[in-house]
Amino acid sequence: MIKNISLLGSTGSIGTQTLEVARMHGFSICALAAHSNVKLLEEQIREFKPALAAVYDEDAARDLKTRVHDLPVRVVSGMDGLCEAASIKEADIVCNAVVGMVGLLPTMAAVSAKKDVALANKETLVAGGSLVMQAAQENGVRILPVDSEHSAIFQCLQGCPHPSAVAKLILTASGGPFFGKSREELENVTPQQALRHPNWSMGAKVTIDSATMMNKGLEIIEASWLFSMPVSQIDVVVHRESIVHSLIEYQDYSVLAQLGVPDMRIPIQYAITWPERLPSPVKRLSLTELGTLSFYPPDEHAFPCLGLAKQAIQQGGLVPAAMNGANEEAVKLFLSEKISFLQIPELVEAAMKRQAPERPTTPQQVLAADQNARNFVLENTRL
Ligand code: NDP
Ligand code: MG
Repeated sequence: MIKNISLLGSTGSIGTQTLEVARMHGFSICALAAHSNVKLLEEQIREFKPALAAVYDEDAARDLKTRVHDLPVRVVSGMDGLCEAASIKEADIVCNAVVGMVGLLPTMAAVSAKKDVALANKETLVAGGSLVMQAAQENGVRILPVDSEHSAIFQCLQGCPHPSAVAKLILTASGGPFFGKSREELENVTPQQALRHPNWSMGAKVTIDSATMMNKGLEIIEASWLFSMPVSQIDVVVHRESIVHSLIEYQDYSVLAQLGVPDMRIPIQYAITWPERLPSPVKRLSLTELGTLSFYPPDEHAFPCLGLAKQAIQQGGLVPAAMNGANEEAVKLFLSEKISFLQIPELVEAAMKRQAPERPTTPQQVLAADQNARNFVLENTRL
């Protein structure tokens, strides 16, 4: 199987692991894209020899051009550059591993260019799910999940002839670094503490989202779009070991789960090679070494983001876009120690209240709702 991949967000946690998968199986890389980490991008270009490299930041793009002037790679910049990489003719599949809403237009560009998308960038579906899924259907392309929970569900659904036979999707959550803490105990937690995830090594934004459990909230919305499932049929269960990656319950109450070591290279590879499976470099799962697996209900009082996300998707329209934009901005402020941990859900909730649940018909409307929510968060934070 020869695959030609356009990889957006190649310098990040998912991006570098995608390149490990590509290296192992000899997949080609026709385009790479990142925000500004030109040092790593240069190394990746020298190894994988893509025809196109997109750097969002204009100054960094100029720097990269100088660094790789001896190579036959075209360097482009800005959102146009990112969309060009997402729609490059040579790609069989576009892996979108950028972080944040900035991934929405490139996802739309890939879909319009009739490319299948291996999607790690969950914010794309949270903010613009209706537009992305409709465009994918119209263009006859697939959105293949990279997020481990959604990959698990996708794997459990293989061979299921009637989606209506599925009664429930059950997403597992690690619970993050603050599992078991009360709301009061969360008042003074620091970014350093929040960045210490027990099971996964990930980018800073998704790690903070895991600590607030907004990550699971975003994933409920992501699952609802990917698998056309109402939120009332999506459950969350805390599973500390991150071995059961998610489950589906059929109408007859038979439950299927996908298990494996917590290593993103499994779902990344499956999204790229689907429907085939190839050998993987990860550790084999040993159930006897683990002995026991534990499951708990989530604490929605201590972690209100979970409830907010459910509310957002139930209200629908542009509310999830506002929720996501407010969360992205609040996470940045928390990481730079400008707001407290518990202010993240407060600001998100307040931004959601200001957003009418109109249905977006264009990505520009989604971007506008996102921007309004961000402005609101910035204006309402005493800096
Ligand atoms: P990282 O922060 O590690 O990496 C983010 C990547 O996006 C970097 O390559 C960064 O480039 C790039 N990027 C950021 N902004 C832009 C921009 N404006 N234009 C182009 N590229 C940009 O994030 P992760 O890899 O952890 O996460 C990526 C996505 O995958 C997120 O949506 C996350 O929720 C999701 N995800 C991640 C998992 C994980 O295990 N890490 C698990 C499941 C989902 P640069 O380095 O130049 O800044
Ligand atoms: Mg996940």
